[in-house]
Amino acid sequence: MKQNRSDNRMHVMTDLSPSLVWFRDDRRLGDHPALQAAMDRGGPLVLLYILETDAARPHGGARAVWLHYSLTALQAAIEDRGGRLILRRGSSAEVIDAVIAETDAGAVFWNRRYHKPDRDRDAAIKDDLAARGLTVESFNGNLLVEPWEVETKSGTPYRVFTPFWRAATDGLDVTDPIPAPQQLDSCVPDVSSDGLADWALMPTNPDWGSKMMDYHTPGEAGAQARLADFLDGPIEEYAEGRDRPDKALTSRLSPHLAHGEISPRQIWDACKDNDYTSRKFLTEIGWREFSYSLLFYNPDLATQNFNDGYDAMAWDHDDQAFEAWTRGRTGYPFVDAGMRQLWETGWMHNRVRMVVASFLIKHLMIDWRDGEDWFWDTLLEADLASNAASWQWVAGTGADAAPYFRVFNPFGQGEKFDPNGDYVRRWVPELKRLPKKYIHQPWKAPKEVLTDAGIVLGRDYPDPIVDHKSARERVLSAYKTARNSA
Ligand code: FAD
Repeated sequence: MKQNRSDNRMHVMTDLSPSLVWFRDDRRLGDHPALQAAMDRGGPLVLLYILETDAARPHGGARAVWLHYSLTALQAAIEDRGGRLILRRGSSAEVIDAVIAETDAGAVFWNRRYHKPDRDRDAAIKDDLAARGLTVESFNGNLLVEPWEVETKSGTPYRVFTPFWRAATDGLDVTDPIPAPQQLDSCVPDVSSDGLADWALMPTNPDWGSKMMDYHTPGEAGAQARLADFLDGPIEEYAEGRDRPDKALTSRLSPHLAHGEISPRQIWDACKDNDYTSRKFLTEIGWREFSYSLLFYNPDLATQNFNDGYDAMAWDHDDQAFEAWTRGRTGYPFVDAGMRQLWETGWMHNRVRMVVASFLIKHLMIDWRDGEDWFWDTLLEADLASNAASWQWVAGTGADAAPYFRVFNPFGQGEKFDPNGDYVRRWVPELKRLPKKYIHQPWKAPKEVLTDAGIVLGRDYPDPIVDHKSARERVLSAYKTARNSA
């Protein structure tokens, strides 16, 4: 399956019509089955990315920022190999038609996606092009196993992660990742392209987006470097340390995976020594696969309770409390640290995500969909499947969810997973002089300790906006009422 430079040149000299490769959330050159299929077919390449104006859910703000940098990196990688990426904005069917008309492309290739509105659109395009005599093929470029490949014995989708992952990995033969082509110099020249800057994906006034990039390096090369760094050390401590937000022991590959700058096959291949710690890490990749299966079978995952037994839940509509949560001013340092990390970096540690989500849903009794939406806008890696599935997991409304009566204790979690308070001190600097005994519960600190730390509660840092114990009782009673009325 390897493509080499001379093969590539040969295609240019043939009379074959061009092959169009439609890049979506698979912005890489390595392990890109659609690109490989186009190169195997031969003919000049038309490499296209469409900013879809008919997307079911438009990009959130942070995701759009990553997209900007990701496309910049993809353009550069393609140009380095002698090729060219065409950017167009519009409805996907119309853009594809226009580009085919302009280039005389005779074949179209893409990697599949799994949300029903996207699948329906892709299927309509495929049918239309095939009816017009074009070759159209789609591939699995983004998952280890596609949703329909993992079913229970009775042919239904799994609702629980462990048996899903057992079935998915049972006899799983992950093919070797496809190497990135070295040359793309058979690309069709002279087709008009939008300028990336014209898409205005970057925020201005203020430009909070480029600041986020102090923490990340979008693009395929950045993804590979991140994986290499992770495998070079942190993975050894991953199984034990992955819940510690004060330590950088997780891979932080999520934005790269969500944007398709690295494929799960490439990660699997890199971890295939299959020791205990690699297996633990790959299990997390398994949660991503499970989330996609859930989204595939439940297209409304981001808007409808997976378990409709909670549809009658009486959520609160407290704008002030919601704003305190978004700004990291709830008075619970571990929650506030997480929300501020998200705001500044576009990413948050998984343990803290669970705690902040639980706090919004359980302590403030605000609908999980409002939290999902906030993450959609602020996470660089906002991912329809993983985000919705995770919010529902925390809410207790999802598949294989945490039981509704699990209410994360926002200071207990901090004491357990940030035992010295380093994570809080990093993101809530006004508390940095508090001794670790009080860092997760400043309201318990004696007055002189607060004075020594230079803090007046209610002035420099908020008092807790809700009382933990009574909030817990309130939400448990609301959940019970909702269940009883279902
Ligand atoms: P690692 O621990 O290094 O894991 C490796 C990869 O496995 C991740 O990059 C990710 O692709 C996948 N993964 C890990 N945990 C999960 C999980 N629970 N569910 C699905 N995939 C997982 N992840 C997203 O990619 N996009 C989201 O929009 C998203 N929203 C979330 C919202 C909430 C409320 C919660 C609790 C979790 C959410 N997650 C989301 C899952 C998880 O928090 C992140 O994938 C993880 O923190 C990313 O950090 P990492 O790459 O260092 O993870």
